[in-house]
Amino acid sequence: SDAKVSEMIARVKADDVGFIRLQFTDILGIPKNVAIPTFQLEKALTEGIWIDGSSIEGFTRINESDMILKPDISTYAILPWRPSEKKVARFICDVYTYGDKPFEGDPRYVLKKNLEEAKKLGYTFNTGPELEFFVFQRDEEDNPTTKFVDHGGYFDLAPNDKAEDLRREIVLALTDMGFEIEASHHEVADSQHEIDFKYGDALAVADKVITFKFAAKTLALLNDMHITFMPKPIARINGTGMHCHGSLSKDGKNTFFDAKADKQLSETALYYIGGLMKHAKAIARLGNPTINSYKRLVPGYEAPVYITWSAANRSAMIRVPAARGNSTRAELRSPDPTCNPYLLFAAMIAAGIDGVKNKIMPPAPTDVNIYHLSEEERVKLGIEMLPGSLKEANDELLKDKVICDALGKHVVDNLTEIAIAETDDYRLTVHPWEIERYINNF
Ligand code: GLU
Ligand code: MG
Ligand code: MG
Repeated sequence: SDAKVSEMIARVKADDVGFIRLQFTDILGIPKNVAIPTFQLEKALTEGIWIDGSSIEGFTRINESDMILKPDISTYAILPWRPSEKKVARFICDVYTYGDKPFEGDPRYVLKKNLEEAKKLGYTFNTGPELEFFVFQRDEEDNPTTKFVDHGGYFDLAPNDKAEDLRREIVLALTDMGFEIEASHHEVADSQHEIDFKYGDALAVADKVITFKFAAKTLALLNDMHITFMPKPIARINGTGMHCHGSLSKDGKNTFFDAKADKQLSETALYYIGGLMKHAKAIARLGNPTINSYKRLVPGYEAPVYITWSAANRSAMIRVPAARGNSTRAELRSPDPTCNPYLLFAAMIAAGIDGVKNKIMPPAPTDVNIYHLSEEERVKLGIEMLPGSLKEANDELLKDKVICDALGKHVVDNLTEIAIAETDDYRLTVHPWEIERYINNF
């Protein structure tokens, strides 16, 4: 409304903002932005700003590449690491195309569409991701390396933890940007860290995941370090996950809690878990979207390999944490932070809602450490595996009508093209492992 627009313009003036960044994400979940001077804000808020979408990954397969960015006024935030005079503020935008139609390749639109479907049944989807990352050194030329900055382990303090100041800066910056940080700590692997923020509505949380990643990377750069969210930068030690806690609420109440039920888990909770398990292979295409993602999903490193759930054990794909009441939730442990959170959450809701609608009961929970099961035992228990590669995950996506419909044809076609191109390029490369393995013996 006009009142909101003038209020926003006044606020930007009061905050001494000199530049406005209009931010959105490509299909890979990589943030993009264009800066406009503050006097253009009124136009941006009332008409939107035209951009050329033809060089944006996943935006390209349409004839009309001119697109409009429309800022979402609720996402206003100042970038705290930029100058304190003539500050830089950003808005996350929705992408529209000719005729003022939401663009089907805009991941944020895909998520919104799925949230609306859930809303029709009375549900809101809350999610809370746990973001892990590695901190590496930069070399003299300022390029990232895979050299650790520390050799700390889980919950370690200085001097084993050498990233306490960096984590502090990230936490303070994110807090300035409206995050409610819950915890930060050194993770299991050398130089690996985690920062957690409060769960919330899936759209706001997806926005936050994007903001988190670029804020963390920027602050690392300013401290002559490098943060990477790639899932397995170093072989044979723990990789980097993005566990996603999820629950469905109705009329402001968590529907997963049932004081009288077995494990105090409601039928809705079980159906949600059943839906996620049924569609787990397709969800892998969204939650594990890189070649490197599949190097994390191997036994022995706290990352899931098998499609199971459990109220206890951390080798399961879905874990139900002990908290009950309004905190009752299911933790999906397979995703990693290379995901596009909009598309991942869209797929999770579609799967969960499919479970609820069709009363999909999950199989019995697997409470043993699954890494220790023999192949024979696993097959006997009917436990299936997550896909072993990006190509396999994409093939699973193409077979899954529920998830394909949730993403829409434009996104599925683009994801398929990307999966094939990545896989081909990887295959065209000869890796150091192959040289080491074969050059002497053959
Ligand atoms: N880093 C582990 C992973 O790859 C998870 C460790 C944890 O439980 O926090 O998922
Ligand atoms: Mg962790
Ligand atoms: Mg976790």
